[in-house]
Amino acid sequence: MKKLSVFALFMLAFIGLAACSSQKSSSTASSKLNVVTTNSIIADITKNIAGDQINLHSIVPVGKDPHEYEPLPEDVKKTSQADLIFYNGINLETGGNAWFTKLVDNAQKKENKDYYAVSDGIDVIYLEGQNEKGKEDPHAWLNLENGIIYAQNIAKRLIEKDPKNKATYEKNLKAYVEKLSALDREAKEKFSNIPEEKKMIVTSEGCFKYFSKAYNVPSAYIWEINTEEEGTPDQIKTLVEKLRKTKVPSLFVESSVDERPMKTVSKDTNIPIYAKIFTDSIAEEGQEGDSYYSMMKYNLDKIAEGLAQ
Ligand SMILES: [Zn+2]
Repeated sequence: MKKLSVFALFMLAFIGLAACSSQKSSSTASSKLNVVTTNSIIADITKNIAGDQINLHSIVPVGKDPHEYEPLPEDVKKTSQADLIFYNGINLETGGNAWFTKLVDNAQKKENKDYYAVSDGIDVIYLEGQNEKGKEDPHAWLNLENGIIYAQNIAKRLIEKDPKNKATYEKNLKAYVEKLSALDREAKEKFSNIPEEKKMIVTSEGCFKYFSKAYNVPSAYIWEINTEEEGTPDQIKTLVEKLRKTKVPSLFVESSVDERPMKTVSKDTNIPIYAKIFTDSIAEEGQEGDSYYSMMKYNLDKIAEGLAQ
């Protein structure tokens, strides 16, 4: 009996020690801000500003469509534990099945307290013939000037929630904005030598409105936004007829959509698909385009090359 109680005491002490040490390691981990982002583009911009000062979880996997998504149990857990959540807003994750709205409502998170739209303050472009909330074109990040606004919004919220790392966030933001600004200037020069009749970016989803406006290259598409039907015979026919009136030399297809409708357009017009480009997701890690900066650089290079054919 005595022996047993010594053993029991030993076990209790051991459990106590283990509990202590695990508590210690979890409190070290929790001193970092827990941040959730909805997609790989916002996650990458956040990483550029926060470095390793935060714990980051990003929801929609690389290469997947961020418009319509079903969060996994892990996403639900991380969202409810998050100190700060960044989403694109302007009809991206809140359009279609509104997966983000459901996710934050379930996690009892509040807008502009727990979660923030990184697109706040950009000059909104609406879907064709629309002008009301919920009908925005969400692809603002495809204009680098908007990417800079995203970065500034992210830095502002990180500093508010984690003021002890203010100097780091500010320093990283400054360097990142300089890098994006240089690429933006390069982009604005790039398309000036392409003849007007060849100047048209053709993609599956009509996601290039912000890009078109910023870099003065018109765009055309099969369907306007991923939350509508994608690649119906009527949509394909309309685009094919439009292209027959132009001298557009190349088509493009996005990494995060079904490429079959664009293959049909290519076959019907005899215009080749020049490259796969990145619009709603960055590339897989280690590949060209695996950050916001490099996906934009890759797109600019490929589009300029393709239209110069
Ligand atoms: Zn899209």
